[in-house]
Amino acid sequence: MTPRVGVGTDVHRLETGRPCWIAGLYWPDEPAGCVGHSDGDVAAHAVCDALLSAAGLGDLGAVFGTDRPEWSGASGVALLAETARLVRAASFEIGNASVQVVGVRPKIGTRRAEAQTALSQAIGAPVSVSGTTTDGLGLTGRGEGLAALASALVLPAAG
Ligand code: MG
Repeated sequence: MTPRVGVGTDVHRLETGRPCWIAGLYWPDEPAGCVGHSDGDVAAHAVCDALLSAAGLGDLGAVFGTDRPEWSGASGVALLAETARLVRAASFEIGNASVQVVGVRPKIGTRRAEAQTALSQAIGAPVSVSGTTTDGLGLTGRGEGLAALASALVLPAAG
């Protein structure tokens, strides 16, 4: 029963006036939101990639790409739920996941408990959420975009 870990990253550009969806939550007071085919939820997408990586199922682009057009535009939480279903269908249990959002805004810590609940409910396993900044450097430091880094652990299902 060897555990398997996976990693995932995501980056989206921020655009003023777009709705901001991060870590499964809507952030109504944010002046900018992420641009993407979907809601641009970098935290949710990074966790998806970490889960897929841990289970050896490839990545978001491979799993939800052009072969499955019904998933274009899906919310981050919907992608997470489907990813978790695929991981379990491949005979893994999900141990946990952890995601760190990199950027100036929104301030993840102000809604950490809500974010953890939203993402944990989506995959049916604990998800820890943290945030950090880059001292004003790079695309995240200048507020041009948001990034997220995630890890996940899965275990072969018993039986
Ligand atoms: Mg993405």
